[in-house]
Amino acid sequence: MEKKPFVTLEKLEEIASQFPTPFHLYDERGIRENAERLRAAFAWNPGFREYFAVKATPNPFILKLLRERGCGTDCSSMTELMMSDACGFAGHEIMFSSNETPPAEFKLAADLGAIINLDDITHIRCLEDTLGYIPETISCRYNPGGVFAMSNGVMDNPGDAKYGMTTEQIFEAFRILKSKGAKRFGIHAFLASNTVTNEYYPTLAKILFELAVKLQKETGAKVAFINLSGGVGVAYRPDQEPNDIMAIGEGVRKVYQEVLTPAGMGDVAIYTELGRFMLAPYGCLVTRAIHEKHTYKEYIGVDACAVNLMRPAMYGAYHHITVMGKENAPCDHKYDVVGSLCENNDKFAIDRMLPAIDMGDLLVIHDTGAHGFSMGYNYNGKLRSSEILLHEDGSFEMIRRAETPKDYFATFDFCDVMDKYRK
Ligand SMILES: *Cc1c(COP(=O)(O)O)cnc(C)c1O
Repeated sequence: MEKKPFVTLEKLEEIASQFPTPFHLYDERGIRENAERLRAAFAWNPGFREYFAVKATPNPFILKLLRERGCGTDCSSMTELMMSDACGFAGHEIMFSSNETPPAEFKLAADLGAIINLDDITHIRCLEDTLGYIPETISCRYNPGGVFAMSNGVMDNPGDAKYGMTTEQIFEAFRILKSKGAKRFGIHAFLASNTVTNEYYPTLAKILFELAVKLQKETGAKVAFINLSGGVGVAYRPDQEPNDIMAIGEGVRKVYQEVLTPAGMGDVAIYTELGRFMLAPYGCLVTRAIHEKHTYKEYIGVDACAVNLMRPAMYGAYHHITVMGKENAPCDHKYDVVGSLCENNDKFAIDRMLPAIDMGDLLVIHDTGAHGFSMGYNYNGKLRSSEILLHEDGSFEMIRRAETPKDYFATFDFCDVMDKYRK
């Protein structure tokens, strides 16, 4: 499918005249319409809730947008819990799906009334020692081991992944938790990341639904919800077919009716913890061409670098690039589009066929709305960019300012020699 930016060149120049490049831009309309499609796809399940994975796009403006569309949040750290709390998420609107969890984070999650999803059987002891009790609602993360047909580069096969409990352990965990007062149980699993097939959720659902029936029968623990977690992907490449969320919802419904309903478990709520699917296509990284270099290859140097978008450097991930204003020009130039890090993997594209690029051209790097800004870092003393939200009426708003050197030096507030640049 042809990939088109959600914004025009004119609008981008207007935004860039106010907020210098590079910046991440988000599309309110796209986010809202997609969230509504997800709700519609699971409308057959009265208890359905999407817990947006905060780590994908940790920005209060984005979280509030999603909250208005009925989403909760999925957190895995102290600051993600704090941001959820500050944005008005409370109680069971927050899922805490963490691993190797510092006890203080269990405490904060419990104080906020969040649903705690335990990654390991040994965390039962840790949680009880930390809180002095076991919450009545509790969830356990499952790892079936072995290989999973839909795995791809981002995450290992379940058997090699650090997450979750074995089959034996989850039965044991349910028994222990029940004996300690837990009353409403959940099951969670995340087996493959960025899947581009409508079969992932239904396949995962079958595994979890069959497990739920056995768990409830053998332990007597009441399974209240099943969390299909994240992993529904997006089509980063133009030749990929995007997921059809209505087909995915329908696929899960079929398995539900085959497995849960006949077992008398037709009241189980379905939860999701999507990040990428909720946001990736509705954000882009906007950057300007500032250098060209002709050596053994043709290079275009841009004012963004891997600290603004790590996925190409980290996973060799493809991100489509549109040279704004040249959408219809022939792609007859082969470029490496590179950032300024002293790190040779700082390349947004390698051997990419693009229209001839002139200095000053605006480039839109697609699908950066999830795991884009949020994976940013400060290597080479580079500063994080701003984030801008494009509203449905065409107005726009800064939803995070760009870092300044003062921010970078802020953690030297005890060190006089840095005062010159810190104040
Ligand atoms: C990262 C993560 C998600 C979201 O994953 P996506 O691939 O962005 O959908 C959901 N749940 C947990 C526990 C995660 O770690």
